[in-house]
Amino acid sequence: MNPMNLRIGEGWDVHALVPGRRLMLGGVEIAHTHGLLGHSDADVLLHAITDAVLGAAGLGDIGRLFPDDDPAYRGADSAVLLREAMQRVRAHGWQLVNLDCTVVAQAPRLSGHMPAIVQRVADCLSIPTAQVNVKAKTAERLGPVGQGHSIEARAVVLLAHV
Ligand code: MG
Repeated sequence: MNPMNLRIGEGWDVHALVPGRRLMLGGVEIAHTHGLLGHSDADVLLHAITDAVLGAAGLGDIGRLFPDDDPAYRGADSAVLLREAMQRVRAHGWQLVNLDCTVVAQAPRLSGHMPAIVQRVADCLSIPTAQVNVKAKTAERLGPVGQGHSIEARAVVLLAHV
């Protein structure tokens, strides 16, 4: 593989954790007392992944593609947005090599949800689960994430031009 045909992309996102909202992470609904606040379904992990794939392909970011002041995206399913972003990335000749992500959440515990999250993310990207890795960490009770006010996600992706 010619290394000149490889591109790395990084994505990061944060959403406030509030009562009265569903908690969506990686396209999977997780039972919890709180959910993430946002214009769309506020799936912080899928947003970070969307930014990573768009960034690697040099196609801007999720906010440019799907403006959060556009009523069309109110309550939007972030899995649909990620699929749409990945379609554009593919249309530019890029193929995903691997994706690595970290969700930082004090609660709930996510380890039991990881197989479902990895499967769902791989489905959104139309790639095998072997190319997707998702890690979960707490914030050791430090800062807004550690105090349960928010959840953060980071993603790194490698694309190859075909
Ligand atoms: Mg977001």
